[in-house]
Amino acid sequence: MARFDAVFIGSGINALAGAALLAQEGWSVCVLERSERLGGAIRTVADYTLPGFTHEVLSSWHPLFQGSAAYAELAEDLHGNGLEYVNTELPTATAFPDHGAMFLHTSLEANVAEFERQHPGDGLAWQRQFETFMASADLSFGVLGTELWSAGGLGLGRSLLSRFGRRGLLGFAGRALASCRDWTGQTFASDRAHGLLAPWVLHTGLGPDDAVSGFMTQVIACAVQLGGMPVPVGGGVKLVEALSAIVREAGGELRTAADVERIVVSQGKAVGVTIAGDEPVHATRAVIAGVTPTQLYGHLLPCGDVPDDIARAGARFRYGRAGMQIHLALNEPPRWKGPDADLLARTAIVHVTSGLDGVSRAVNEAERGLLPAEATIVAGQPCTVDPGRAPNGKSILWLQLQELPAGRVKGDAAAELDVGDGTWTDELREAYADRIVTRLGESIENLDSATLKRIALSPADLEALNCNLVGGDIYAGSCALDQNLLWRPFAEAPGHATAVEGLFHIGASTHPGPGLGAGSGYLVAKRLTRPPLPRRMLAKLPGRS
Ligand SMILES: Cc1cc2nc3c(=O)[nH]c(=O)nc-3n(C[C@H](O)[C@H](O)[C@H](O)COP(=O)(O)OP(=O)(O)OC[C@H]3O[C@@H](n4cnc5c(N)ncnc54)[C@H](O)[C@@H]3O)c2cc1C
Repeated sequence: MARFDAVFIGSGINALAGAALLAQEGWSVCVLERSERLGGAIRTVADYTLPGFTHEVLSSWHPLFQGSAAYAELAEDLHGNGLEYVNTELPTATAFPDHGAMFLHTSLEANVAEFERQHPGDGLAWQRQFETFMASADLSFGVLGTELWSAGGLGLGRSLLSRFGRRGLLGFAGRALASCRDWTGQTFASDRAHGLLAPWVLHTGLGPDDAVSGFMTQVIACAVQLGGMPVPVGGGVKLVEALSAIVREAGGELRTAADVERIVVSQGKAVGVTIAGDEPVHATRAVIAGVTPTQLYGHLLPCGDVPDDIARAGARFRYGRAGMQIHLALNEPPRWKGPDADLLARTAIVHVTSGLDGVSRAVNEAERGLLPAEATIVAGQPCTVDPGRAPNGKSILWLQLQELPAGRVKGDAAAELDVGDGTWTDELREAYADRIVTRLGESIENLDSATLKRIALSPADLEALNCNLVGGDIYAGSCALDQNLLWRPFAEAPGHATAVEGLFHIGASTHPGPGLGAGSGYLVAKRLTRPPLPRRMLAKLPGRS
């Protein structure tokens, strides 16, 4: 039987980064992926729509990875293995129905001017909120980069207490619970500013009226100003290849078409996995599962190996709204309408919405099981950052929709489409994609004439590509507060260690949640390679470095 120190189930960003970090520490690692490709929600496909057009079928933008602790440690080896990032000074904007637009730049001065352009006083408000956020950014980012149920989490709590005092800490925590609507409303006078920021809440799995969405808006807005919208030259596959190369160079193995059926538990310890139609693989030190809680507790773990209350809570784990992707190959770059058309044409991600209320309405419709009448369209323009994604003079659009019902579609908020029995048929997918493209055409004058080919992926198509996207939930689990932060994946089993010795849970369903930040893979790799307590205490003695 093959034996490794650590066996990873799945090959998403968290598993790959975790495997690379362990491999660099001398661990023998094996990554087992059920599909034909490594990378999970990183899926770059050349000639996807037409020859010469390279598309990110799923995730596309890498600010989270470029800002991550994993990247900070692995950067040199990743670059040595062919990864190269490119960035832009125009990361995001919102295009409004009257053809006005508002932009978020990578410079504080430019953003102050842009907020001021929309409403006198908002420029100063942006500057103040940025400075206030940055004064405690170590703690805010710390919450997202720390194993909260650990000595590290306790240390973070102590730092918060000593910096703010008891009353100040309560105020900080209370403000962090505010919704995006409340925070933006209290901070900026201009509706355009609210409409610029609110769509970003969708990228955290929340809606603008949800608890904590105000804090998440601030984290993202400041991170985008600081970090822009980087992408790997040639697509996310370059990151997957570079991480895989680090694993292989250290003697590790990465296998595709390896569907893990069971985690083998012996005397309360995870000792390996079984694979459909193949030999089992033995793990001497850790099994690390990059899967959803419903798969982990419902299928992979043998009955009786975790306490009943945990198994039952795992089965109850909730999935969030579904997503949809639409990919367009264009004969020429998009020509946006309005006075800011040139800037919009150079912006990486343009949200098309009527504003905060528009996002709120679409989220609410989706949560009630309806196809939104006016969805927030996330219009990604990868060629603005990496022109090589399309042949010379041509372009692509990466369209994302994050406001679709979780589960069965009950109806259409616009009362136009027949949703049948609520399952995602090809007809329903294409009819809904028609609605989206028609609306986008109101903002891009040549959209129809420039489109050479379109491929749409419904929630069902997304789940077929990656079983972690249950019901098409692109974030592998609702990010509502009771399944977020201290409570992710769920209150009975928070964090990454599990009730089974040697078994760790990583991936978007776990803290710090979805995105390409590789946070859970990093935290688990660090925990596993941390020197034992006596050595750590010795290192702290005077005279030792
Ligand atoms: C459409 C879409 C767009 C997104 N856009 C962005 C973006 O632009 N920027 C960003 O930061 N984030 C984005 N995200 C979110 C981000 O991509 C994901 O949160 C992240 O990639 C999830 O990583 P993961 O480690 O949880 O594993 P995943 O990427 O979910 O991969 C898990 C892998 O495990 C495999 N697997 C599952 N069960 C088994 C088993 N039993 N045996 C073997 N293999 C198994 C699956 O086949 C899959 O390949 C997007 C997500 C989606 C779906």
